[in-house]
Amino acid sequence: MSIETLTKSVRNIPDFPIPGIQFKDITTLFQSASHLKELSEILYDLYKEKGITKVVGIESRGFFMGPATAIKLNAGFVPIRKPGKLPYNVIEETYTKEYGEDTIQIHEDALNEDDVVLLHDDLLATGGTMVAAYNLVKKLGVKKIYINFLIELEELEGRLHFPTDVEINSIIKF
Ligand code: IMP
Repeated sequence: MSIETLTKSVRNIPDFPIPGIQFKDITTLFQSASHLKELSEILYDLYKEKGITKVVGIESRGFFMGPATAIKLNAGFVPIRKPGKLPYNVIEETYTKEYGEDTIQIHEDALNEDDVVLLHDDLLATGGTMVAAYNLVKKLGVKKIYINFLIELEELEGRLHFPTDVEINSIIKF
């Protein structure tokens, strides 16, 4: 299956959640068994040689392919969540995103200096969310961080906000 076929299966929703936003709806890709399998295999092939020990997924759309990819890579899964959701001690980052200000948290003991992390979310827009997640994971002193998105909105140039030595992959580009 081609990337173009995967790309065509993403539904565009104009004016969601607010006027002017062209929302990329990934549920139409996930609901197809063949598309989902292809996506999963692409993710596995991208990271199988990297020695990933933990996949870190960002709430909430990073919780779909995050754990699925962790299982394939024989890695653990760690959630980054919105405030008030994680039950143990957390560290946090506050950032500005497309639709306002937000804070994300991670358990303070979720990662350590031996971890090679694959940070995953569904979509890269301005980069605000993932930069905050990257800073959060960095605070826990891990060995290396890879960054992955299912979708990248290239014209927003979100990837320019990351250090140039960080490997950033996206599968579907708009
Ligand atoms: P950023 O912080 O501006 O890069 O926005 C990315 C975050 O917003 C991710 O967590 C996405 O799940 C969410 N997001 C922004 N736009 C879309 C969209 O069109 N479809 C799905 N999620 C989106």
